Amino acid sequence: MRFAIFGDIHANLEALQAVLKDAEAHEVTHYVCMGDVVGYNANPHECVKIIQDLECPVVKGNHDEMASLEDDLTGFNPLAEEAINWTRQQLTPEDKQWLRDLKMVRQVRDFTIVHATLDTPHKWGYVFNQLDAAASFNYQHTQICFYGHTHAPRAYIRDSSVKTVVLDKLQIEPGKKYFVNVGSVGQPRDGDWHAAYCLYHPERQLVELRRLEYDIWTAQDKIVDAGLPQRLADRLALGK
Ligand code: ZN
Repeated sequence: MRFAIFGDIHANLEALQAVLKDAEAHEVTHYVCMGDVVGYNANPHECVKIIQDLECPVVKGNHDEMASLEDDLTGFNPLAEEAINWTRQQLTPEDKQWLRDLKMVRQVRDFTIVHATLDTPHKWGYVFNQLDAAASFNYQHTQICFYGHTHAPRAYIRDSSVKTVVLDKLQIEPGKKYFVNVGSVGQPRDGDWHAAYCLYHPERQLVELRRLEYDIWTAQDKIVDAGLPQRLADRLALGK
């Protein structure tokens, strides 16, 4: 058994295709999606369809929520707001219903998945430091929880205290808890433009970060052609 754990696709079809191709090459048997399938980039409907066809566990992201409702967008930054308004016009009623029905938190085998935090998942708080991670750990009942939302891969480990480690190859050790950010497929924000996702090998107790080249030029052209803000195309290349 081998898992591909990925999220924050944000309607970037080219990046999603690269991730799924890499996962297949690594003989992945199970897929798990951390949400934010839509928002920012130019292929929301296509990405929803691909994730639906995987028939895998998916949790809801804040962009999935906002794109599937008609609520006003107070609290979103202007760039995200423009993209959400555009995304709402691209999604079918069925796409929106599917997004609305996604759960906030799920347990998959022996691990948990959530988009933002376990302490208040519906508030979409960001885990940026050990203090934020400590609050989430209080609600974590499995040894590993995977999450997304910040678009920056890293792992928090709770032992006697909570520490942060750079995510590369992470060996899961008995007696410790892990809160692991799998990075973003479609809009990385850690200064690296390459699409990010994680492989999880339960038998080897190993989490492995993957970074992949993809056809970023096509993704950028589509953003511009769709009339979405130029800055959304530019930021892909900057990884922020
Ligand atoms: Zn996101």
